[in-house]
Amino acid sequence: MAAELKVGIIGGGYAGMAAAAELAAANIPVTVFESAKQLGGRARGVSYNDTRLDNGQHLLLGCYRETLRLIELVGGDVERDFLRLPMQLDLHHHLELRAPRLPAPLHLLFALLNAKGLSWGERFKAARFMIALRSMNFRLPQDMTVAELLKQHGQDAGLTLKFWEPLTIAALNTPIAKASAQVLLNVLRDALNRARADSDMLLPSIDFTALFPQRAAAFIERHGGKVHLSCGVDAIVPEHDGIALQTAQGTQHFSHVICAASPATAEKLLQPLAGLDDTVQQITALQKQPIYTVYLQYPTQVRLPHPMIGLHQRISQWLFDKGRIAGQHGLLASVISAEGIHQALNQVELAQKVVVELREEFGINEVPLWSKVIAEKRATFCCAPNLQRPAQQTSIPNLLLAGDYTAGDYPATLEGAVLSGVHCAQLCLAGRK
Ligand SMILES: Cc1cc2nc3c(=O)[nH]c(=O)nc-3n(C[C@H](O)[C@H](O)[C@H](O)COP(=O)(O)OP(=O)(O)OC[C@H]3O[C@@H](n4cnc5c(N)ncnc54)[C@H](O)[C@@H]3O)c2cc1C
Repeated sequence: MAAELKVGIIGGGYAGMAAAAELAAANIPVTVFESAKQLGGRARGVSYNDTRLDNGQHLLLGCYRETLRLIELVGGDVERDFLRLPMQLDLHHHLELRAPRLPAPLHLLFALLNAKGLSWGERFKAARFMIALRSMNFRLPQDMTVAELLKQHGQDAGLTLKFWEPLTIAALNTPIAKASAQVLLNVLRDALNRARADSDMLLPSIDFTALFPQRAAAFIERHGGKVHLSCGVDAIVPEHDGIALQTAQGTQHFSHVICAASPATAEKLLQPLAGLDDTVQQITALQKQPIYTVYLQYPTQVRLPHPMIGLHQRISQWLFDKGRIAGQHGLLASVISAEGIHQALNQVELAQKVVVELREEFGINEVPLWSKVIAEKRATFCCAPNLQRPAQQTSIPNLLLAGDYTAGDYPATLEGAVLSGVHCAQLCLAGRK
């Protein structure tokens, strides 16, 4: 029975590899086509000056259960592959919030009520807001922007600037004036309201290609599947008994196809197909938000006070000490999420700005040996209220869509991508003849 399913997957990012691994685990033959020379897509390892970097410093949450499950399925070990930190939000000199080892949601209430850098009034307002959200089951009758929701719940300017704004930008990669309150609440519900470990922050000690997609490729091949690199799909051709995929290397026929390419490519591939106008329109309507990462290699003795620390009202939003996280001593990463004034700077100016901030905030007077700025201009979709995201099931029965931008509770995240891939795999398995 299972042999009748033959699945082609376009894209070897986290969504595509999640779908492929899930199908391989059910002994379904899969073929993954990846246009790039390596797997990982928007979460991929990058080599620079003999140093292993990522295209952007990523952070996972303990509630990313499907991503963590699949990393283990393909041979990873979550406890070994990550530095796990209990929930904490440190904005250097401005806010210090740490969750104690108490059951959820007491850990959060305790953290809010004991936050350094917030007045007593601000702490109570934040705690009262969290209690109100919990009593609403983290569900709004009507979506709105995060800025509007904060105003409704009396979260004043200082509290917003120090707490809600950095949290929203980190979670949704979208400024609070544009971000969906409901999607933020979905993340808060899953991270803060169930087990305490769900709010843990996980920083990988290996790069993002090695962490999952590369291991998934080996797993898929062990289960009879194939992964083709540098092999982009040029066209999807529906046939009477399946779907063909055309590449420069030839045409292959499948019973099902999962398109897990980025939104821009999915739009191009789906446009010529009859009956997909609504899907294509939904993809076209998605606005994009950037993420910039500035890597600075300092002499090895340079360290930050914590593996991850935020800055208040600076260009750098979050700083990561790769020495503390991955043993890459002296390597610091500054992450700047969402649109902002930093986009007006060229890469040299931006790196210089970060160097000055590190000097002023932490007294780091050493000169970096090198710097590397990675600007991902289309890092994620802009997570606006009431966004219509395309469903995984298209109107062509055996053609499915996976990717962080497809329908789901989550913003553009690894977990959103993985959940969509797993859902597509389940739809294929449910459609087994
Ligand atoms: C800098 C940065 C920082 C981020 N930080 C975080 C974070 O901290 N936490 C978090 O959870 N998420 C984060 N994200 C978001 C996360 O990386 C993405 O949501 C996720 O990687 C998207 O995966 P995907 O598989 O949906 O898409 P993609 O990764 O875009 O995968 C699509 C794949 O399809 C391939 N492809 C394209 N065209 C074709 C074709 N014609 N044929 C075959 N293959 C094709 C691409 O090369 C790519 O490999 C960040 C993203 C960026 C860019």
